[in-house]
Amino acid sequence: MTFVELQVLTQEVHACQACVLHQSRKQPVMGRGNIRSDLIFVGEAPGATEDNTGLPFCGKSGKILDKLIASIELSQDTVYILNIIKFRPPNNRRPSTSEMQSCKSFLDRQLSIAQPKLLVALGSTAIVGLCGPGAPISERRGKIEYYGKIPVLATYHPAATIYNPVLKSTLEQDIILARKILDHGLSEV
Ligand code: URA
Repeated sequence: MTFVELQVLTQEVHACQACVLHQSRKQPVMGRGNIRSDLIFVGEAPGATEDNTGLPFCGKSGKILDKLIASIELSQDTVYILNIIKFRPPNNRRPSTSEMQSCKSFLDRQLSIAQPKLLVALGSTAIVGLCGPGAPISERRGKIEYYGKIPVLATYHPAATIYNPVLKSTLEQDIILARKILDHGLSEV
């Protein structure tokens, strides 16, 4: 059932013309990993590599993310990775609020198939897309907010650590916290 639901959803995303992004994207980028995972990583939007391959986080940021996932002894079989936006914004610009709104029903359907216990929002756009605007990511990270009933832990985007390596250890701490929450529940926060 999950497979069929995912296939139908992917076809609908493929046909989507709700915003201007359909004009310039090569293909939709839905997700990678195991959709029936307790932990889902939520990124911003596909970049050029993702637009070419159809898979989220498969460039430089993806390598960092995969290492972080391995560091908490999880893998593609036990997590799922997706983006707020399914189509690449031209020149990697930030998706607009209305583009995020247009894509929200697809995200909701992914999450209803997945039934995760925890979302990790990677970066400012991801937490704004899920939980709305608020304090800067430096203040929101490491804390729990909610997307409907699903707890969301915000942290830095892996790409941020390329430009600012000082953030690496904080990102690592947050990922360890995500693992603790998975294992022991929200009392860890
Ligand atoms: N950055 C994101 O937020 N998502 C991707 O899929 C790749 C890079």
